[in-house]
Amino acid sequence: MKPFEYARPTTEAEAVEFLGEEGVQAVILAGGTDLTSLLRAELVGPSRVVDLKQIPSLHEVTRLEGGVQIGSLVTLADLAKNRLLDGYRSLFDVVDGVRSIQVQGSGTIGGDLCHLPNCWYFRNGYGLLGQENGVSLPETGDNRYHAIFGNEGAAKFVNASRFAPALMAWGAKVRIVGPSDKAGFFGRSSGSTVDAEWIPLEYFYVTPKTERQGNTILKPGQFVSHIWLPDAKLISSATYEVLQMEGLDWPLAAASVCLDVDGGLVRDASIVMGHVAPIPWVTGDSSRWLIGRQINEETAGMAADVAVSSATPLSMNEYKVQIARTAVKRALLKATGQLDT
Ligand SMILES: Cc1cc2nc3c(=O)[nH]c(=O)nc-3n(C[C@H](O)[C@H](O)[C@H](O)COP(=O)(O)OP(=O)(O)OC[C@H]3O[C@@H](n4cnc5c(N)ncnc54)[C@H](O)[C@@H]3O)c2cc1C
Repeated sequence: MKPFEYARPTTEAEAVEFLGEEGVQAVILAGGTDLTSLLRAELVGPSRVVDLKQIPSLHEVTRLEGGVQIGSLVTLADLAKNRLLDGYRSLFDVVDGVRSIQVQGSGTIGGDLCHLPNCWYFRNGYGLLGQENGVSLPETGDNRYHAIFGNEGAAKFVNASRFAPALMAWGAKVRIVGPSDKAGFFGRSSGSTVDAEWIPLEYFYVTPKTERQGNTILKPGQFVSHIWLPDAKLISSATYEVLQMEGLDWPLAAASVCLDVDGGLVRDASIVMGHVAPIPWVTGDSSRWLIGRQINEETAGMAADVAVSSATPLSMNEYKVQIARTAVKRALLKATGQLDT
């Protein structure tokens, strides 16, 4: 591991200073469960690691403007215990799926959202696009865990976040703190001592066309401070992840749903699939198809068919289409109390 400076800010403003200092290549440390592996493998080579754990506001869950605000440093275990989050079942489903008490205790929601891909080409030093001498390794090599949607460009990895599909289905926003490269993009809201902007989580992820683009809109010096969720009233939600192993594992595919059901009929639906594309994959067509319908075995299956109808599997991952379909169908049944697990 290359040597680096270690900084421990106690306020957001101090974090911005440490991250943005001229000539410094900084990375953010949250729970450290993945960053330590990235550092050891020299997949990131910062000159400074900025540990956000001493900033109190990032550990809080509070009510805010018609919803709930979650600090990015809130751990999975604390999330599951917090009574303000009681109505957000799809988030608890995700925590349950991370079957390691150690990871639940130290992994954070912000670290999950910013988790770099688990693609084995990336993890072996071939970059986000997994290229060697301009040749795409996921395209020509083993791509059994790669994308089945949004894979027509150079990026074939799948987004690693487990919470992003659930949060996105809820219509979450993220607060990004730090300097902007576009004049006027970030403003200083009243009471804030740093430049910050709330943006819909839907706009946070990027399918990179080039290696330098990254997989989120975060620019050097920026970090995620909070996540905001609208009130959970009247909405039923669920996440269904298909995991290969009983223990700690990454899903092969997952789906999160939020449903507004009135008199047994769907008034509004939001379905987002995870681990199937370089970004969390919003399935607008199947959500629209459900409106005005009752959810049962048959309609959940038909909505799932619509959700996967535009899949473009690679040479070795056709099987993931069926798995993604199952995830959508079971998430719908689970959200409506028609599935026990
Ligand atoms: C051996 C091992 C195996 C694991 N296997 C699994 C698994 O199978 N399934 C699973 O779901 N989880 C797994 N995890 C846990 C996973 O790493 C965490 O759940 C979580 O995704 C990372 O959270 P963290 O707070 O530790 O992030 P960190 O490791 O601190 O950071 C992760 C990345 O996000 C960036 N980052 C962190 N916070 C922010 C922020 N606020 N703003 C901007 N960037 C930020 C960091 O710079 C880093 O690049 C595993 C962990 C370990 C140690």
